[in-house]
This record gives sequence, C-alpha cells and structure tokens, in this order.
Amino acid sequence: MANHLFQNIRDRIGPPDDRIFLESPGRPELTFADLMSLSARVASALVGLGVEPGDRIAAQVEKSPEALMLYLGAIRAGAIFLPLNTAYTSAELAYFLGDAEPKVVVCDPARREALAPVAAQAGVRSLETLGADGGGSLADASAAQPADFADAPRGPDDLAAILYTSGTTGRSKGAMLTHANLASNAETLAEAWRFTSSDLLLHALPIYHTHGLFVAVNTLLFAAGKLIFLPRFDADECLRQMPRATAMMGVPTFYTRLLRHDGLTREATAHMRLFVSGSAPLLADTHREWRARTGHAILERYGMTETNMSTSNPYDGERIAGTVGFPLPGVALRIADPDSGAVLEREKIGVIEVKGPNVFKGYWRNPEKTAAEFRGDGFFITGDLGKIDGQGYVHIIGRAKDLIITGGENVYPKEVESEIDALPGVVESAVVGLPHADFGEAIGAIVVRAASASLDEAGVRSALEGRLAKFKVPKRVIFVEDLPRNAMGKVQKNVLREAHKDLFVEAK
Ligand code: ATP
Ligand code: MG
Repeated sequence: MANHLFQNIRDRIGPPDDRIFLESPGRPELTFADLMSLSARVASALVGLGVEPGDRIAAQVEKSPEALMLYLGAIRAGAIFLPLNTAYTSAELAYFLGDAEPKVVVCDPARREALAPVAAQAGVRSLETLGADGGGSLADASAAQPADFADAPRGPDDLAAILYTSGTTGRSKGAMLTHANLASNAETLAEAWRFTSSDLLLHALPIYHTHGLFVAVNTLLFAAGKLIFLPRFDADECLRQMPRATAMMGVPTFYTRLLRHDGLTREATAHMRLFVSGSAPLLADTHREWRARTGHAILERYGMTETNMSTSNPYDGERIAGTVGFPLPGVALRIADPDSGAVLEREKIGVIEVKGPNVFKGYWRNPEKTAAEFRGDGFFITGDLGKIDGQGYVHIIGRAKDLIITGGENVYPKEVESEIDALPGVVESAVVGLPHADFGEAIGAIVVRAASASLDEAGVRSALEGRLAKFKVPKRVIFVEDLPRNAMGKVQKNVLREAHKDLFVEAK
C-alpha cells in the first residue's frame, strides 16, 4: 500500500526537479526537489522520535517554508497532522493537546517554554532543529543533503489530519480528515479552478485552517503549481506581487481592504486570472465593486472544516454575487427541514446537508456528536441554512444557531443585515437575537457606521419599517466601531450575544 495523499502528490509533481515551488520573501526559494528532500528529513526525524503511523503530531508554528515541510513530513511518516492556531493561549492549548494527545508537539523556539507545561505526555520539539541531523538545518535548504524516505503506507480511509473548527459558534471541535478527503478535494479544486503548473498563487492566509492549508496548498501541489507565501495579508505586498501572480485565494476582508487601496486597478490585476473568496460571506457590494474596479468577477465558494469544499461558482459560467455557486463534482448537496429532515424543494430555506468524498469521518473522540450530525443515509448536517435557487445556485443564509425566533416568528439575520447594510452611511451590521421576557428573543442590530454618517437609532428603525415586516425590524440599534471577528474574518455572533445579553432584560 502506498501513502495515499503523498503518492498522489508525487504522481502529480512528477520527477522532483529544479522547478521552483515555493517563494517566501526574504527566504531561499524551494524547488520540488527540495520539497521531497526536506519533507523526507522531517519524516525521518519524526520516526526517530518514535512516531508511528496514527500518532498525532501537533504544530504551533508561524507560517514558513519549514512549517509546510512539517505538514508534508508528518503525512509521509503516516502521522495525523494537527495544526494549531498561533493565537491560542496556554489554556486553549491545554484543551486541544489534552483532547488530541499528540506524540510530539512541534513549535517555534520562542513558544517552547510556554508549551512545555501544557504538552502533557508529548515531547516538545522546536521546528528549527527538527531534521537538522541529516546535514544542515531545515531552514537552510541549500546546505541540505538530498534525503529520501520510504513513505509510511496509508490507505484512503486512514486519517491524515485532525483540524479543529474555527470556534465561531462555541468550543472548537476536532474534525477527522482522511487521506481520501484531502486528496479528492485537492483534485476536484485543481480541476474546477483550472490550476496548472503555470500558476503562481498569492498565499496570504494562515496555514492552520482548511482554507490556507488544504484548499490553497494541496490544490497547488496537485497542480504542480507555485506558491508565494506571504507571512500575513498586506494589501501593499499583494499588489506588488500581482503583476507576477496568476491567482489569489482569500477571505472577504482581503478584498474589502484591497478595495480601499488606490493601487487596485484594472492594470494592477491584469496578469491575474482568478480571485477566490471563502470562509465567510462576501458582500454582494464587494463583488460588484471589485468587478467595476478590476474587471474580475470574484469566484465565491463554500466549505467548512468538516466538509472541505462543497460548492463553487463556475470557472466558466456566470459567477453570481451573493451565491456560492453549484455543488462541486462528486458532492451531493440538499436542503432539508431542520426538524423533520424532509428534503425541501428549490427556493425553500432549510439546513444544508452534504455527502461525498469531501466529507470528514467524524468528530475526534466524540461519537455522540458525530452520530447526531449525520443523517441515516450518510448526509452531514452542516448547521448552515441555505437555499438552492431556480438556476441551481446555492445561497448561504446564515447559521442555524443564529436564526432568531422572536414572538414565534422566524427571522433570518441576513435578511435584516442586508437591508441595514444598504442604508446610506452604514459600513456593516450584525443582527442577533437577544433574550427578551415577552418575545423569547428580540432583535438587536449592531451597526458600524461611516465616520461622517449622522445616522442614529431612530433613523435606522424608521428606514427599515418601510422595508421589512414589523417583527423583523430590530427593537434596538447599537453603534460600534468594529464587529468582533476571528482570524478568518468571521463575525463572532456569540461574542455579540454575550456582550449585549442584557439589552432587553428590563424590557417589557
Ligand atoms: P465552529 O464550527 O467551531 O463554530 P466555524 O464553523 O466558523 O467554527 P469553519 O469550519 O472554519 O469553522 O467555518 C465553516 C463555516 O464558515 C461554514 O459552516 C459557514 O458558516 C462559513 N462559510 C464558509 N464559506 C462561506 C461562504 N462563502 N459564505 C458564507 N459562509 C461561509
Ligand atoms: Mg462550524
């Protein structure tokens, strides 16, 4: 048996040669030959530490070429890779490491001291020294001796990674992803988005989430394309690189920030062939402005940690603002009644359910939750609300947990937010249900207004009264400077609900 994921990568890269595969500003370039050699050294080093197939390797490391080699080395050693958000605190790390019980925790030298007390049984290693024994440190590819490693055999159904969800709606859950999940998604995306060895992807995402690691890196590896690793998103740097690059994958905030930059023009983006957005909703306004400024239609897609990517707007057909396109090849997607599970017809809003080779194996050490989130026929209940329109495009309406039930009426926050966002002087808004003695929940709107705007609470409410049924109009409007967002740009509604939970407590 081969190592399913890595064998696929080998087959697609072909004989490892001197083509550049990774650039990181200020660092030596890595070729495909370096990729093979350095990941082999990491894999040998992990085996030397006693790592056996099925062991977890946790990584809390900054984005770097070495961090990527660690991921590939762990896969080659047959281990289960467990990337951890670099922003996690000791208390959070204690939870993840206690839950996943990794054999080894790899970190940047600066993190070693903080990690040691929470790493429990695991050995803590610094990334810098891992694999250095083969001659030269990992960080210095040119000094490295070519190395080889016999990849540990892993079947399609074996685990390749445990990825913790973003924790937007509560405590993060460990999603078990198999070799086949990752390989099939990379293959599908490379094909759907037409990636080839001529591509150069601008990579400004973190690499501890599905988006940056699996969607971006695996897809480019499967296409034998090239990556530019930027340590973090920076509009100036992205614009500097665009004349050489062909594609960018980003979260909506990348696009809104680039739109605020004078350098974003048709000429500046003329060499690019593709802009992809995901992880959070892309506002239809952003889509339209981007098109007007650059001539490119951003391609929005939808996925989650548990399902990898499920839908995408078409590469060739029309990319419709405010939709996430069609189910990807091999993915079955349906809309179901959240209570009865009955499959709903087109245009009806319900919970999105997905089935296919992209869908994860279950939640790590949580068979009850796994059982609760799969239907008997194998469909995974995503927890997102959506609908399929008459043309087959999927629309994301929001999270089922964010649905507001006020006085017995269902209100989808997105519908109210869209109306508020369209008011002059509004930058963005978030609508949440807050505890209310009479209504169960009452609607609160948290609004960011433009610096110059004179809009006030009464103004927002009266403007909405003409456009929305009375029960959908927020009972209170609160103005804030910014909405709380996590690293992927997702608005944290649980933070807002907590912060404003007493808003209606005195209300009668
Ligand atoms: P948790 O499950 O821990 O609460 P999370 O759901 O934010 O966190 P992820 O798996 O990173 O963790 O995010 C997946 C979610 O992101 C989806 O379920 C969906 O709500 C949202 N999402 C992803 N892409 C889009 C998109 N294009 N439009 C709207 N929402 C999106
Ligand atoms: Mg989720």
